[in-house]
Amino acid sequence: MSSPYRLAGRGEHPEDLVVNAGGLRFGGPDLIIIAGPCSVEGEETYLRTAAALKAAGAHMLRGGAYKPRTSPYSFQGLGPAGLRILAAAKRRTGLPVVTEVMDPRDLDAVARVADLLQVGARNMQNFPLLKELGRARKPVLLKRSLWASVDEWLLAAEYVLNAGNPNVILCERGQRQVSETVRCSLDLGAVPTVRGLSRLPVVVDPSHAAGERSLVTPLARAAAAVGAHAVMVEVHENPEAALSDSRQSLYLEEFRSLMSQLSALAPALGRKLARPAP
Ligand code: PEP
Ligand code: MN
Repeated sequence: MSSPYRLAGRGEHPEDLVVNAGGLRFGGPDLIIIAGPCSVEGEETYLRTAAALKAAGAHMLRGGAYKPRTSPYSFQGLGPAGLRILAAAKRRTGLPVVTEVMDPRDLDAVARVADLLQVGARNMQNFPLLKELGRARKPVLLKRSLWASVDEWLLAAEYVLNAGNPNVILCERGQRQVSETVRCSLDLGAVPTVRGLSRLPVVVDPSHAAGERSLVTPLARAAAAVGAHAVMVEVHENPEAALSDSRQSLYLEEFRSLMSQLSALAPALGRKLARPAP
């Protein structure tokens, strides 16, 4: 039987796809670490945090300028000003950035700055957005919806690929469930599952699954162990003051510890951390 995943599947190209995002090779042997606050909140704080994350060995910066918030009364992101801050952080640190695009009308502006275009979990099946991303010249990080099957997730990836963008990376970020001990349940089984069904690189975001910082480091270690190509975590220089996802944001000191744990763990998994940026 032929695979329903014509472009994401391993049918005609059984080897892993390697996606280059800002010079980082997702999908190869290197373990890549993406870190940053949930939202870009201001220039000074973002630049200070970016410098600290680079010093700690992070390979890519994150931070939303356009935020999908449950309540319309919550902080919605700085929009274009946030993009300018991300551009400044790239210039200062030399690190590439990933940031979310929520609306096709913002795509050109976001793609001018982003090295990797994030589709948030809530937009995984926003088909007009996915088709528009097919025309983008930057790779796409497709987060799995909180309630999507693996099949729905891979078919969403197929939309971007079929619309002409060959560079898609998947991101597992936790599924809705009944337990109240975690915000979402991180579907670690999905990592080897999608790696078997598809050739696309896989990132794991333990922060949005955990919803609570003490769970992030153990889940990040597990993600590396189960075969994720990259781990994306939220870090804030002062988590108590964060404008979004305060409870799950790591302190910088916790991030430094996570980096040293992952660099010790990687060789046991036949991997190594990607080289730090110069
Ligand atoms: C985020 O990465 O900040 C985010 C909003 O994630 P998700 O779409 O997975 O909830
Ligand atoms: Mn967040």
